[in-house]
Amino acid sequence: MIHDVIIVGSGAAGLTAALGLAEKLKVLVLAKGSLTGGSTAWAQGGIAAVLDAGDTFEEHIRDTMIAGAGLNRQETVEFVIERAPHAIERLVELGVPFNVDGNSLHLTREGGHSHRRIVHVDDATGWAVQSALLKKAEDHPNITLLPGRACIDLITGKHELRYSGSGRVWGVYALDEATGKVEAHTARATILATGGAGRCYLFSTAPRGATGDGIAMAWRAGARVSNMEMMQFHPTCLYNLEVKNFLITEAVRGEGGRLINPRSGKRFMEFYDAERLELAPRDVVARAIDAEIKRFGLDYVHLDISHQPADFVKGHFPTIYEKLIGIGIDMTRQPIPVVPAQHYTCGGVVIDLNGQTDLPGLYAAGECTESGLHGANRLASNSLLECFVFGEAAAAHILDCWDAFDPPPPVQPWDESRVTNSDEEVVIKQLWTEIRRFMWNYVGIVRTTKRLERAQHRIKLLTDEVEDYYGHFRVSTDLIELRNLLQTAELIVRSALKRKESRGLHYTLDYPKMLPQAVDTVLVP
Ligand SMILES: Cc1cc2nc3c(=O)[nH]c(=O)nc-3n(C[C@H](O)[C@H](O)[C@H](O)COP(=O)(O)OP(=O)(O)OC[C@H]3O[C@@H](n4cnc5c(N)ncnc54)[C@H](O)[C@@H]3O)c2cc1C
Repeated sequence: MIHDVIIVGSGAAGLTAALGLAEKLKVLVLAKGSLTGGSTAWAQGGIAAVLDAGDTFEEHIRDTMIAGAGLNRQETVEFVIERAPHAIERLVELGVPFNVDGNSLHLTREGGHSHRRIVHVDDATGWAVQSALLKKAEDHPNITLLPGRACIDLITGKHELRYSGSGRVWGVYALDEATGKVEAHTARATILATGGAGRCYLFSTAPRGATGDGIAMAWRAGARVSNMEMMQFHPTCLYNLEVKNFLITEAVRGEGGRLINPRSGKRFMEFYDAERLELAPRDVVARAIDAEIKRFGLDYVHLDISHQPADFVKGHFPTIYEKLIGIGIDMTRQPIPVVPAQHYTCGGVVIDLNGQTDLPGLYAAGECTESGLHGANRLASNSLLECFVFGEAAAAHILDCWDAFDPPPPVQPWDESRVTNSDEEVVIKQLWTEIRRFMWNYVGIVRTTKRLERAQHRIKLLTDEVEDYYGHFRVSTDLIELRNLLQTAELIVRSALKRKESRGLHYTLDYPKMLPQAVDTVLVP
């Protein structure tokens, strides 16, 4: 099937790009599972933008660079932050019902921000944004939304009927999850907006589909990826054996929440960051909690906001309050048990300010990219912003260059010779769990070279197994994800081994110091 532009992913980045393109072009948006299955719908805290009279772009830029430990690209940081007020304006026009304070938008403050600058819709901002973008896209005659399509690989020159072998990207092979058939979708331009790779880790706040598919597909097709070792761990995920992966937003600490060692009953952040305490950047807080848990043999620590008036807590955190009440915790009177969990993938496919990757015809936007915005650590609430800015930038560049793009040539259909269904689904489950467990234990918050080498060894063994499996059986979403999860894990470990220092989110006991010069870890296929 031939289209003008194909977008893989229906989160904030994908739908922003789709709406930008659709005034002039016909756009196909593909999504694995449902159209609301990405991280966007799960975002709680909000979106960062300079909107307050006392705030400045310079301060937002400085906060972003401090969090990113100098690894950010200044040009990108300025590009994104200066476009933030416009991005918020667009969302207001789309009908996102941000909280207001009189005539202005209500702004909260989060860790690492020197000002109140986070716009939000209660504590469920992502859902409001996802719904508004999706409604607009559904209503647009030039946008076709196809859920239930798991993209397997990019179509490049080597798939052309008249083999060219070029790195030019022409689209994707996508599995129709309902019929099991693989479709070839081609277009003049393709945008990857596939989100992060959080599910490489045992504990992650990300949705199940965050398996690094776009990063792995781009890498296999020949694009560079960068800074994959910079994996952000959210300090405060609810600790509960039944309800897994429920995030307690940073805004709880922003509004006065205190971290307490449940054994001693004492606040402990003063031992790790005496100045910023609970408002220190995420990596500092996550490492502090990890250290406290390991030192005292705890299962969790407490996050306590019960000293604030009950109406204030319920008013600011209605979703969290309801969720916790449902499992017997009243956060207006009791502390919340929390642990750190993987939360955000800072590294990804290398893009420029137009969202262009190394491969002609291939763009990328959002969490699957490394744009230079986050550097060694993402500042809270900068990531949705990155999706809007680069979704729009990619769309604008495609529109500008449209006449110079060749139409897609005829390509080979998917090789349907693998007709056998997997006979042992248990193998996929076993391998998936194994990867997530050793990534958590060996490539987690605190690393060592020895642990990274152990992980690398495991990955080598598993790669043979997975490739053998992939080569013999009919593809399924689980198998596609497993292959990508393993590929992404390999890129994370390889990047972590390359960095001979501790910087931002990458902390290794073997190289605890930060080197004077900040250098990206760039992997070239
Ligand atoms: C719990 C939680 C809270 C967060 N809170 C905030 C916050 O307050 N503020 C903030 O700025 N950021 C927050 N983030 C981060 C932010 O939500 C994400 O970085 C952002 O939403 C990513 O958007 P995206 O468009 O890049 O990808 P996503 O929204 O993750 O969408 C990815 C899309 O790609 C599709 N896809 C993936 N692989 C394939 C494939 N192989 N084939 C077809 N489709 C595929 C998925 O189906 C999905 O449609 C939070 C994240 C989480 C998990």
